[in-house]
Amino acid sequence: MSLTIDAASAADLLAREIRGEFPDERGRFGPFGGRYVPETLIPALDRLEQGIHRWLKDPEYQADLARELNTWVGRPTPLSYAPTLSARWGAEIWMKREDLAHTGAHKINSAIGQALLAKRLGAKRVVAETGAGQHGVASAAACARLGLPVTVYMGAVDIERQAPNVGRMKLMGATVKPVTSGDQTLRAAVDEALRDWVSDPSGTYYLLGSAIGPHPYPYLVRELQAIIGRESRVQMMAQAGGLPHAVFACVGGGSNAIGLFHPFIGDRDVAIRGVEAGGRGPGLGDNSATLVSGTPGVLQGAYSLLLQDAHGQIQETHSVSAGLDYPGVGPEHAFLKTVGRVDYESIGDDEALAALEELACAEGILSAIETAHAFAAAKSYAKAHPRSRILIGLSGRGDKDMPTLARTLLKGKL
Ligand SMILES: *Cc1c(COP(=O)(O)O)cnc(C)c1O
Repeated sequence: MSLTIDAASAADLLAREIRGEFPDERGRFGPFGGRYVPETLIPALDRLEQGIHRWLKDPEYQADLARELNTWVGRPTPLSYAPTLSARWGAEIWMKREDLAHTGAHKINSAIGQALLAKRLGAKRVVAETGAGQHGVASAAACARLGLPVTVYMGAVDIERQAPNVGRMKLMGATVKPVTSGDQTLRAAVDEALRDWVSDPSGTYYLLGSAIGPHPYPYLVRELQAIIGRESRVQMMAQAGGLPHAVFACVGGGSNAIGLFHPFIGDRDVAIRGVEAGGRGPGLGDNSATLVSGTPGVLQGAYSLLLQDAHGQIQETHSVSAGLDYPGVGPEHAFLKTVGRVDYESIGDDEALAALEELACAEGILSAIETAHAFAAAKSYAKAHPRSRILIGLSGRGDKDMPTLARTLLKGKL
């Protein structure tokens, strides 16, 4: 069940990606993406696609978005040099600080952009799904800001595990609906949110949390997150005096990574590395390394790589970081892997936690555990490529992870 593409076709597909031809008119990145949804969803997706076509590049929408990003989200986020890590690792380490964005991670970039779009499309309410609760919090914040009522679907199991985020959402006026069907986690929550949307596709907007799902969501989320990479390019030229030799980001559904990577894809001299959760190890159900060990298939509306068994049953996943714990991945990443432009690797729970601790002590930055996976991978790269210039996407801050850190790194120390 693997999918191989010969070198000539891969080169041709990559050239088309660099020319901006993907997603194509069928919503595909080469073989990946598309729309694998019930017939009832097609009109809603068509409406959304037309709305994006009409508004995304509209000067007034762009001006509204720029104003919210600058004055409410806190953009541009800084590019920070890491003097201590650079000295220790023998390379130049630069960090793009999405942890300093409002609500503590990159997710707000997409949430505010989609909420502004929802208003333009005449939606009266918003629905969203959330797993660990970070996208729910970003959605609640963006919708409160714009006066849009929002209902966030969240698995009953997750509601229990992520109580502080449930409280945050409620304080910002969101309705949090527990999902008791299916696995009672993120996948079931997405299904419920879709069901809600289909019942009123013109009055409701579905605010999706990563670069996943049916076309046009992977495109929309990429466009809204690409500000991370665009700012980084300009800041690297100004502060580091040139483009990075290598760029690293962690990959869950893939939104912070595609946002950082996309503006560098045409720079063939820039190595690009996506880092997934290796969890407890390579065994079935022990990790969430979809790009590293997944096979092609359909999950939640798109053809991509996913963690499934030989019968197409989705596998259980594990990661110490809730935000990377997902059996699928955005179709553009599956494409970039297949054409060989981006390399994907995995980092285990313990290595990620060690990197989190090293970053915190060396630079005074407590990152999200998701983010720490990228630092661990960058460290190995730095050791193998002395004096190289490395850019790491610092996707979010670690305050939300204190309960997990109390059970792991701080065990016996509190
Ligand atoms: C949600 C989250 C991720 C993973 O989501 P992507 O869509 O892959 O970016 C990574 N880092 C942080 C801090 C997150 O909150």
